Amino acid sequence: MKLNVVGCSPAWPNPGGAQSGYLLEGPGRLLMDCGPGVLARLRSSNGTGWPHVDAIAITHFHLDHWGDLVPWVWGTMWGLGQDYAKPELWLPPGGREELAAFGTRFGTPDMFMRVFEPKEYAEGEEFEAAGLRLVPTRLPHYTVQTYGFRVSNSTRTLAYSGDSGPSDRLAQLADGVDLFLCEATLERGELDGEPRGHLSADEAVAAFEASGAKRLLLTHRPNELTLEAGLEQARDGLQLDV
Ligand SMILES: [Zn+2]
Ligand SMILES: [Zn+2]
Repeated sequence: MKLNVVGCSPAWPNPGGAQSGYLLEGPGRLLMDCGPGVLARLRSSNGTGWPHVDAIAITHFHLDHWGDLVPWVWGTMWGLGQDYAKPELWLPPGGREELAAFGTRFGTPDMFMRVFEPKEYAEGEEFEAAGLRLVPTRLPHYTVQTYGFRVSNSTRTLAYSGDSGPSDRLAQLADGVDLFLCEATLERGELDGEPRGHLSADEAVAAFEASGAKRLLLTHRPNELTLEAGLEQARDGLQLDV
């Protein structure tokens, strides 16, 4: 399984950066989250000018994780995307209704349904997308319904935290995985709101150590915050074999 970090900025973009978007390949092509900047990056990395993905899975409805689905709709209705099969769009429970409400503001209530094949996952229930097996786990993120994904093909497993505050559930999500892609948004945990919604790097490392995962890749981190030496950090354009 190959991980392509399309964008890894937090809620505000790092200079020149795209927001959350992680493309997994192997066997199919699965995009986890689709924040602002991700569609342009995917377009420029594909010779045909429009991304081919089999499925998109969204962790939660904060804009930095789904905002580029809006221009994806316009490009599919009026642009080069017209020639492509509808990708599956995996959403948190209630996501279809949520998208219809956003669609009412941005265009039409059915705009997302016209260009994607929307499906809703359920807490703890395995589903298949792009030939990969995913298990969604509910995580604490302020008051927003948010999930992390555990993703497997026949040989490798990755866990993606999405956005999360500290929780024992992170260690369950990433239990023994080959790669734990974990957010580390904060300089210090005490700077977070209440209820908690993000992790400091120390808290991400603690979740990683509790999980027994083999490798940690920190993400969703503002550029201006430095990291201790020895910690591996995602950057836009990074490609690695999981
Ligand atoms: Zn975020
Ligand atoms: Zn968020």
